[in-house]
Amino acid sequence: MSARTNQRIDGTRLWDTLMEYGQIGGTPLGGVKRITMTDEDRRGRDLFRAHCEAAGATVRVDSMGNMFARREGRDPKRLPVMMGSHLDSQPTGGKFDGALGVIAGLEVLRSLKDLNITTEAPIVLVNWTDEEGCRFGRAMMGSAVWSGLHAEEAVKAIKDEEGIAVGDALAAIGYVGSVPCEKFAADAMFELHIEQGPILEAEGRQIGIVTGAQAQIWYEAEVTGQDSHAGTTPAVARKDALLTAARIIELVDATMRAEGTDHIADPGRGTVGRLSVYPNSPNVIPGKVRFNVEFRNPSDARIAQIAEEFPAQAAAIAAANHTTLTLIPVFRIPAQPFDADCVALVAEAAEKLGYAARRMVSGAGHDAVHVARVVPTAMIFTPCKDGLSHNEAESIEPEEAEAGTQVLFEAVLQRANRAL
Ligand SMILES: [Zn+2]
Repeated sequence: MSARTNQRIDGTRLWDTLMEYGQIGGTPLGGVKRITMTDEDRRGRDLFRAHCEAAGATVRVDSMGNMFARREGRDPKRLPVMMGSHLDSQPTGGKFDGALGVIAGLEVLRSLKDLNITTEAPIVLVNWTDEEGCRFGRAMMGSAVWSGLHAEEAVKAIKDEEGIAVGDALAAIGYVGSVPCEKFAADAMFELHIEQGPILEAEGRQIGIVTGAQAQIWYEAEVTGQDSHAGTTPAVARKDALLTAARIIELVDATMRAEGTDHIADPGRGTVGRLSVYPNSPNVIPGKVRFNVEFRNPSDARIAQIAEEFPAQAAAIAAANHTTLTLIPVFRIPAQPFDADCVALVAEAAEKLGYAARRMVSGAGHDAVHVARVVPTAMIFTPCKDGLSHNEAESIEPEEAEAGTQVLFEAVLQRANRAL
């Protein structure tokens, strides 16, 4: 019962199904608006349930709305091999972010049925609730609760901007399931996702073998100077909080660029994405500025070094400019390496199928990163046009979707049939 045969998924059916889901919440610009726990989300979920049942799987929903479609294996003692991603989108999202991983999993289930394959281990396809975080401000919500990172009750009380709580929004679309949301024992998890970055496309490769996710540290910063008259305050007397902030933004950028500036795969990331200026008047020297800083890097050691050096460097800039800085670290997560055996299965599948592949670290967060804390996990990336995502113009080629899905199929099959 070797799986090393030329078993192929159906690339045309895969693409047609991707386009079918792209209609649910489809936008005039060709993107998707399928925000979590809205009617569009419900319609996507209903279709997903029907498709999974038609493919011979049993669907159950947990109390966070995570959907699990299970296809039984031959050996009832084996733990399931999981695959999946998310069907929710950003307000101006694309057709493939998340949906590719779910629909590729559906294609795997359909192909197993067509090819009359019974795996040794059960296969479970997951649609995680609210990966995007755009409505309630908590990305990867469903997988975070499932893996024990966040408490369900607290998450369910989080409200959107209209004051609707997660628990109520989920109930309104009929997706508070009867199964408690908690991790169950699983043998492995594989998530296929578009890269959302430019590396694979630039290098002409079809498959990213994702070895893990990068470490992150986030700060909230507040610079205090003194409001004063723009026309009468000379250089020597200024305490310009915005100028300090600008110089710290330069430091953030320089810290990133110290990791390399000429290669597309240079690892440093450093960003100030939000800034508030007070009093924010055209002719008042700003007395207060609040902003956010975040650094990401595949290396825990490098993030530790930044955590050691950046606060003092930033404080020195503030002092030299006659202002003061309060810098509060608000979030820090270590790098999350994926499981070496699962990563190897992805690499072997890509090689066997003859796809050009490279090892890479995920720049973005994904459900698989949470799941990796409790289940052996790996991810597969496929290229996307211009590295663009969280955008209605997000685009991939049918052959790229097929390649990624074929690798997913192969890796899942190998894992589910492995000798114990
Ligand atoms: Zn995604």
